[in-house]
Amino acid sequence: MLLLKCPKCKNNMKYNSMDGYIVGKSKRCVYCGRSFKVRDNIVKKL
Ligand SMILES: [Zn+2]
Repeated sequence: MLLLKCPKCKNNMKYNSMDGYIVGKSKRCVYCGRSFKVRDNIVKKL
């Protein structure tokens, strides 16, 4: 399980990843609806 922090609204989202690799992918924030590219510094491993 990963924790993603939205760079726009700073909310945290849980993300269930199969391979644990999400950096470089595009995600849409469930709170503000904006898409962003996932960077290393906004991902936390739980
Ligand atoms: Zn957001």
